[in-house]
Amino acid sequence: MEKIMPNRLDRGFYQYQEEFEAKALEVLRSGWYVLGREVASFEEEFAAYLGAKHCVGLASGLDALWIAFRILGIGKGDEVIVQGNTYIASVMGITINGATPVFVEPDEYFNIDAAKIEEKITKKTKAVLVVHLYGQASNMTPVVKLCKKHNLRLVEDCAQSHGAKFAGRTTGTFGDIGCFSFYPSKNLGAFGDGGAIVTDDEKLAEDVRVFRNYGSEKRYYNRVVGTNSRLDEMQAGLLRVRLRHMSELEEEKRRISEKYLKNLDSPHIMLPRIREGATHIWHQFVIRSGRRQELIDYLNGKEIGTIIHYPIPPHLSEAYVYLHIPQGSLPITEEYADTVLSIPLYNGMTDAEQEYVIDAINGWR
Ligand SMILES: *Cc1c(COP(=O)(O)O)cnc(C)c1O
Repeated sequence: MEKIMPNRLDRGFYQYQEEFEAKALEVLRSGWYVLGREVASFEEEFAAYLGAKHCVGLASGLDALWIAFRILGIGKGDEVIVQGNTYIASVMGITINGATPVFVEPDEYFNIDAAKIEEKITKKTKAVLVVHLYGQASNMTPVVKLCKKHNLRLVEDCAQSHGAKFAGRTTGTFGDIGCFSFYPSKNLGAFGDGGAIVTDDEKLAEDVRVFRNYGSEKRYYNRVVGTNSRLDEMQAGLLRVRLRHMSELEEEKRRISEKYLKNLDSPHIMLPRIREGATHIWHQFVIRSGRRQELIDYLNGKEIGTIIHYPIPPHLSEAYVYLHIPQGSLPITEEYADTVLSIPLYNGMTDAEQEYVIDAINGWR
């Protein structure tokens, strides 16, 4: 068997090869490549899929995050609460605008520990950024309540949680703005970069629509200093193809993950858990081990690749030395960074591949 990689984007392409190729040709032949029919249709279809009123396509997930805070007027002198154990882009979405991230420890589901938010609220706090990490919806009921109580904006980073739900409601629709990435490895992945903002607030949606296109409503009339962050027609068209198959794709990843949960029985690893009331779309299957490096080396020796999401928490990254948050200040976050490991999981993974991975892990001593 060839080496088993943590992810296989080619498999995802071949699953719907004919539809992707037909759409790509259609877009190429259309003569219209930026902000056209495909983008408008995708925005409508993705909003409907989530149960949101408006969707605005953007160039990336990071753009969705920083533009969200920019449009909400959150910047210098403001604080935004976010979990410590996230991908650094969540934090950059806050700091690009000059705002300060205030980190909260995660719970045992790798998401923000809602019980630890209130103690971090100060006069400067303007918003909470919830990240639905690895594909599992966060514990939203207490977060929504706290944001109402303290009059805070609620932004969701759904880059890993397309379609995941908490208490029957889709992530991205709980607060003011939901931010999505369509980076190729995400559950709803494009064939290049892409992102989107969703909101129920028409005014916010309109502001983002203007901001993404140089602050221009009408050609050559610029209302504000905006940016260039447009989803292109090719990505939007290809995303529409994938979106039509989302329920099958989600079901496939769920089936593979449930098989892992049922069959992995090594005493040297901890399996991921699912919160009551939450759904998990399994962007990653993340186990933990106190002997992680040994496990990585052992699996490499068996031609099985793994990845760490993420080895350095944002507060300890070189980029954020200026925040002066010392090592040891977020012990759970740091413990996760030292022990988490994502094992192979992708659409198009074969039974033989998965059984090989399960046998290898269970055989580890
Ligand atoms: C991927 C990701 C982003 C950034 O998305 P890009 O499209 O790569 O800019 C932000 N937050 C999280 C949690 C992500 O996983």
